[in-house]
Amino acid sequence: MQVIENAVAGKRAVSSSGRRAPVFNPATGEQIAELPLSTTAEIDAAVASAKAAQPAWGNTPPLKRARVMFKFKELLDRHAADLAREISREHGKTHDDALGEVQRGIECVEYACGIPELLKGTFSRNVGPAIDSYADRQPLGVVAGITPFNFPAMVPMWMYPAAIACGNAFILKPSERDPSAPMLAWDLLMEAGCPEGVLNVVHGDKEAVDHILDHPDIMAVSFVGSTPIAEYVYQRGTRAGKRVQALGGAKNHMVILPDADLDQAADALMGAGYGSAGERCMAISVAVPVGERTADALIAKLKPRVESLKIGPATDKDAEMGPLVTAMHRDKVVGYIDKGVEEGAELVVDGRGFSLQGYEDGYYVGGTLFDRVTTDMTIYREEIFGPVLSVVRAPDYADAVKLINAHEYGNGVAIFTRDGDAARDFADKIEVGMVGVNVPIPVPVAYHSFGGWKRSLFGDHSIYGPEGVHFYTRLKTVTTRWPAGIKSGAQFTFPTL
Ligand code: NAD
Repeated sequence: MQVIENAVAGKRAVSSSGRRAPVFNPATGEQIAELPLSTTAEIDAAVASAKAAQPAWGNTPPLKRARVMFKFKELLDRHAADLAREISREHGKTHDDALGEVQRGIECVEYACGIPELLKGTFSRNVGPAIDSYADRQPLGVVAGITPFNFPAMVPMWMYPAAIACGNAFILKPSERDPSAPMLAWDLLMEAGCPEGVLNVVHGDKEAVDHILDHPDIMAVSFVGSTPIAEYVYQRGTRAGKRVQALGGAKNHMVILPDADLDQAADALMGAGYGSAGERCMAISVAVPVGERTADALIAKLKPRVESLKIGPATDKDAEMGPLVTAMHRDKVVGYIDKGVEEGAELVVDGRGFSLQGYEDGYYVGGTLFDRVTTDMTIYREEIFGPVLSVVRAPDYADAVKLINAHEYGNGVAIFTRDGDAARDFADKIEVGMVGVNVPIPVPVAYHSFGGWKRSLFGDHSIYGPEGVHFYTRLKTVTTRWPAGIKSGAQFTFPTL
């Protein structure tokens, strides 16, 4: 059985921990690896190696740090298919979907290639007599990232390329479910010439996370995962004096106005609702058609599409979605479908009991569609993270906006319409961090930043892009007087011009 290694101080090594977690292939239900859950001493060793490496790395000219990123990008391009295979094997998403994830990760590396420009400071001459002032952003030191299972390559790349390019050293604690893709990416970064200790990968669970959050030598923590853990990480990390950005869960709505192109909207809902088996924080899990006629027409278009979804393992090139990540998660999703029926939602397509010939032990759930879901129902309030789309019928546009703004999550949202006035009004009024107009999954590109509102993000910074650079650096302003030729004697009042 394969045992997943840690990567500390430039070397891969198996953890000495006696505690181990299984890693499964969700397509077959087979255990394919064992993951040691690192000890606190191993986290300490990773932090010590990062702390030793950081000063020289932070002092390396940004252009040279950027060259490592350029090389890393080239290697990622060359190994994109290998990374995608690792992702699919442990996560279950289709190969093309995994390739898309790798590509979006690479775009964050491309952004980090511009670090000399991004770190360029500001300078003001003559802020006083013979006095100049400059300001620039400097690295924090050792920083850490804790990541979820659903994007095992991309979400770590939301974090460490920017952090490292800024001159920090990084500790990555990936998800226990699919640890191999971040290890392959680590190999590539080392091959690109990143010095030992600048990126360390330590696997583990709550014990490792808690130790990272409390560690006095870690200056900042980026977290992406579910909302209860994000809130916990934010509170514990900030209590320990760290800068923390903690991105949480979501319940993303898509409003369909009566004037929308309904075929386009239905296709968008299929991709955004069922792609990656709904295991995306930007998945659309609630469709909000406005008016009964729009709702009836939308359901008529969705039902056959959901019934004919092609479900299969990543090795099946025709598959549109794969299995869920673990048996436990599959059972949880099925439990939500049971609950929806129990609470009175109308089950239009039932994905329970789906079985795939030859893959009977895989963690599959068929595409599921609920109509007449109401806002008090559990399947509306909670994040399901599976291939389950709920239709909530709104009598009018104002009601659609109101119900979305009342939801505790505020990650992504979309509106489908041909009406520019309505779209503009929606973008203005909606209390959600990322808004799509006729775009179902409005994930910002790498040179913007990603972040939800309300209980989808704890902290003041969104992730990657310009906000990422801000998060991983701190501002220093230097005021200088050369030559000190102006003699004014001791001055006891506050300096002014
Ligand atoms: P999760 O919260 O279970 O795990 C995330 C990380 O936290 C993992 O590394 C895990 O080891 C660690 N962790 C788990 N339980 C912990 C505990 N009790 N104490 C400390 N650490 C703990 O999330 P997941 O199931 O891996 O990922 C799915 C979730 O992530 C969904 O809620 C999804 O919406 C969210 N997500 C959000 C974004 C975003 O950008 N907002 C992006 C991707 C995923």
